[in-house]
Amino acid sequence: MIHVENLIDGQFVNVEENFDDISPIDFSVIATIPRTKNVDAAVTAAKNAFGGWSSLTLHQRCDWLDKIADELENQIEEVARLEALDTGKPMEVALNVDASRSVNNFRFFADFGRTLESQEFKMDDATNYVVRKPVGVVGLISPWNLPLYLLSWKIAPALLMGNTIIAKPSEITPLTAHFLGKLCVKIGLPDGVLNIVHGYGPEVGQAIVEHSEIKAISFTGGTSTGKIVAATAAPMFKKLSLELGGKNASIVLDDADLEIAVSGVLRSSFLNSGQICLCGSRVLVHSSIYEEFMEKYLRELKEFNIGPVISEQHRSKVLSYIELAKEEGGRILAGGRVPDKAGAWIEPTVITGLSHTSRTATEEIFGPVVTVHKFDTDDEAIEMANCTQYGLAGSVWSKHRGREVAEKIESGMVWVNTWLHRDLRVPFGGVKDSGVGREGGMWSIGFFSEAVNICVMED
Ligand code: NDP
Repeated sequence: MIHVENLIDGQFVNVEENFDDISPIDFSVIATIPRTKNVDAAVTAAKNAFGGWSSLTLHQRCDWLDKIADELENQIEEVARLEALDTGKPMEVALNVDASRSVNNFRFFADFGRTLESQEFKMDDATNYVVRKPVGVVGLISPWNLPLYLLSWKIAPALLMGNTIIAKPSEITPLTAHFLGKLCVKIGLPDGVLNIVHGYGPEVGQAIVEHSEIKAISFTGGTSTGKIVAATAAPMFKKLSLELGGKNASIVLDDADLEIAVSGVLRSSFLNSGQICLCGSRVLVHSSIYEEFMEKYLRELKEFNIGPVISEQHRSKVLSYIELAKEEGGRILAGGRVPDKAGAWIEPTVITGLSHTSRTATEEIFGPVVTVHKFDTDDEAIEMANCTQYGLAGSVWSKHRGREVAEKIESGMVWVNTWLHRDLRVPFGGVKDSGVGREGGMWSIGFFSEAVNICVMED
């Protein structure tokens, strides 16, 4: 049994009340978690640490990020083991996606920081210097689907730019954040630079968003929670980055290479049990290749290894959408059932026969459920892809027209003939109800700093 504690000012501390962390694999209790409601002590620690941390040079902070990456890499198997335990995902996914990409996040921002150049704008009679100052104490809030991967995506650039941190992982998956805290203490990261608090979102998460001394909030989670975060933070003029929900389309055009498309679309449908914000939960297939595509897709699906969904409560939500799909006239081509074993398991489910405007095909399910739809023209596919409130990601599978179609999709990221292929320098984020702002490369640098202009008149 693991006892998760808050990391505040370099010390692990508990609060009076704790609650259980439940394994989605068999519903056993795997850890206890502090039910934190107040973040004043963490904020005081972060404020006290700010002066020292922000006055290090950028290169010194890059060295710290490398030290964290080294330590995480040394423990990569343990990171993956904890992530697999907490989320139920297969070990190979925890290792190859979560753990290794968490290491990469620290490594990438260390390297990226070393390449940052100061900006100057010359005038005839003066020079403008752009100075990037840290924002201050920042609040980082992340979801349960890729716990350390998404949290480290925020922690690394926030540290790089000289901010000090109050981080809150999801109450459902606190183990790897707790482990990261231990590693940072072990390598001697200065006390108070990284504070990690645990508990329920509406309590400790809300306390972070409400705190007047926390100057920026980087939030990844659902669109409805994002609305609450925005409503709380906006009147305080906090910097705000919101990475929210999605209902992404995978579009298979008539000239697609079917071997590549089938395995790519299948991976985007069901990796991490469909619980990645970038997953393609709507599969749009040209009618001329529909039969052949579906035959191969359903055949390969039988070999696909997935874990349970994150919790019993989440499984109920996913199952309710399968019931809704039936009511809306959908036909279950595969899955749809709950295996006869303990844990939040659910078969990967493929549904056809629904209108692309049905609730099942337009609302975020965030589980191993996809709806499949036929189209006859590129314009029809684009219209179908764009018909939801969301605009996070998508993919197009085509030998010749991929880029042309991709540019017409209303979403922040579109892959052509691949999926989840990530270059950490590029903008990451959504349009419409999928978010506000961008992370990644210079976009993260911009969010976690205040660009100040100094205009110096020449003699
Ligand atoms: P939630 O919105 O429920 O939670 C996200 C985080 O916010 C959790 O840490 C949660 O804490 C916390 N939280 C909850 N209420 C509040 C509040 N009032 N104030 C501050 N923080 C709060 O999302 P899920 O964890 O269920 O994650 C799934 C969602 O995340 C999906 O919609 C998915 O699309 C989206 N997502 C988006 C990504 C993107 O990059 N756009 C990437 C990954 C996921 P707790 O868990 O303890 O309640």
